[in-house]
Amino acid sequence: MPGSSLAAAIAWRCATRTKSTKALKGKGVPACGAAPSDGIDDADQVLAGDGKAHYLKVTSMSNNGIRKVVIVGGGTAGWMTAAPLALKLGGRCEIVLVESPEIGTVGVGEATLPTIRYFNHALGIDDADFVRKTQATFKLGIEFKDWGHVGNRFFHGFGDFGPPIDNRPAYMYWLRLSRAFKDMPSYEQWSMATAMARNNRFAPPHGELPSITDAYSYAYHFDASLYAAYLRDYAMQRGVARIEGMIDGVEQHPETGFITALKLRDGRRVEGDLFVDCSGFRGLLIEGVFKAGYVDWSVMLPCNSAQAVPCAKAAQLTPYTTSTAKSAGWTWRIPLQHRTGNGHVYCDGFTTDEEAGRVLLDGLDGEALGEPRQLRFTTGRRRKAWIKNCVAIGLSSGFLEPLESTSINIIELAVGWLIQYFPNRDCRPELADEFNRLITERYEFVRDFIVLHYKVTERSDSAFWRYCADMPIPDTLKHQIELFRETGHMAIYDPQGFSTSSYFSILMGLGVVPKQDDPLIDAMQFDQLLGHFASRREIITQTVKAMPEHAQHISQHCRAP
Ligand SMILES: Cc1cc2nc3c(=O)[nH]c(=O)nc-3n(C[C@H](O)[C@H](O)[C@H](O)COP(=O)(O)OP(=O)(O)OC[C@H]3O[C@@H](n4cnc5c(N)ncnc54)[C@H](O)[C@@H]3O)c2cc1C
Repeated sequence: MPGSSLAAAIAWRCATRTKSTKALKGKGVPACGAAPSDGIDDADQVLAGDGKAHYLKVTSMSNNGIRKVVIVGGGTAGWMTAAPLALKLGGRCEIVLVESPEIGTVGVGEATLPTIRYFNHALGIDDADFVRKTQATFKLGIEFKDWGHVGNRFFHGFGDFGPPIDNRPAYMYWLRLSRAFKDMPSYEQWSMATAMARNNRFAPPHGELPSITDAYSYAYHFDASLYAAYLRDYAMQRGVARIEGMIDGVEQHPETGFITALKLRDGRRVEGDLFVDCSGFRGLLIEGVFKAGYVDWSVMLPCNSAQAVPCAKAAQLTPYTTSTAKSAGWTWRIPLQHRTGNGHVYCDGFTTDEEAGRVLLDGLDGEALGEPRQLRFTTGRRRKAWIKNCVAIGLSSGFLEPLESTSINIIELAVGWLIQYFPNRDCRPELADEFNRLITERYEFVRDFIVLHYKVTERSDSAFWRYCADMPIPDTLKHQIELFRETGHMAIYDPQGFSTSSYFSILMGLGVVPKQDDPLIDAMQFDQLLGHFASRREIITQTVKAMPEHAQHISQHCRAP
């Protein structure tokens, strides 16, 4: 996204750090592994495609410019929209957020991807302050248990398995070596993030030059309500006005159909030029007013329910999310400083809510801090997220289940694109078309990655898993799986999304081993390769050993009061 400011700052390169932050300063797209203190030098500046620092603030709006933005909803999406708009528009345009405490927020969404750090950095947020105030912990990836087959365990870490060799990913060389040498250690031992997670260690990457020991990235787990509150304070300090009230109607322009005002139950009216619908699953404006329609992906992502419950924090603070497959879905475990977040995502066609609740409570590793909360959803996306002068961001634009913590990432991107394609009052439909194209593409890329986890399974111990093994999948994913299974190559449709390393982690973790080796790798000298792999592994082992434990790092740098 050359030339864009906030969008560039939050561009998504999820898994791999291949260049040092210094090197990236000229390239405009920070990699996920950038250390917290680098990448963006000033709260108000981000790097654009030309490598120069650009001020975020707008100095004036045109005559036809938007005079007032109205955000509907004060959940994670609402405040993640309000905060960067407040910074970007710098008081030149009124911003109002309307929320209803009576309805409340969805109250989940506590695991993220590394791009959250670029989002926070673009706002000038101090990492340690943020971690303290949101009870956050660090996340190096996700541990998958019982996926593929019962007893299986693998890790999807934020990072790679070594830099490419001769233009091919390092894992392809590992595949060749492991075929030749039966005692070759698991590929996971060449992933810094995985080695750190397995040893419960954490320290941020800090190198100035690309190095083995810096080849990882990290994200956060945080308390969703505290994150929304953190951004609320940020946005309100920068001029965003908050209105508490229940919206029960809208006024539209008789000719254009544009929304002109929200009507609140108590009789108040909130006028505006641009309306951002962050009203959650209900899609109050995008669906309620504009009837955008919904693309339903339940056939390939059948889970439609979740129950969530916090429990007392565990003795060990793990630097990763845990996802454990169950007979009709999976459970999550998200460690925070003050408690552990837990949930069970399942399909109610294959189990009952009572049984799902029991599975959730049986799996807790601490005392439950309340009753499980029931949630329902339909996996899919809104046909259009931007219609006329209404832009849907967050759950109102669609939902993919939280298996890879992608929803908040899609919010980051959507806000970046809204700023990149910020309209005048006429809201040119071409801008909406471009926004809708990007969002659609993003949802589809993420959908494929999540479906992969279900589709490739040897589990036949329940009707749910037998359904998943047989269900239809998109051709794009079919090609990906077959390409890897037959040749070890990958089809990466989205260079800014999940990388070859991410796909490799999931495919291998689920038991897909390529049938053939790359013919050019086949012709290489094994001795040299073995030496290369052995020395890298040794460096990773020693570096991880020298790192502090996750809890120790937090207590030294960012423990919540
Ligand atoms: C089970 C589950 C687990 C998840 N886990 C993750 C995760 O680990 N990682 C991740 O990235 N994402 C996750 N998500 C998604 C994440 O929770 C959401 O993307 C995020 O919380 C954004 O929600 P939101 O702000 O769009 O909606 P909500 O939180 O529902 O907010 C909607 C807002 O709209 C307001 N509103 C609605 N109607 C009205 C009205 N009539 N008048 C006034 N106000 C109104 C409400 O009061 C509220 O403030 C998960 C989602 C689910 C369902």
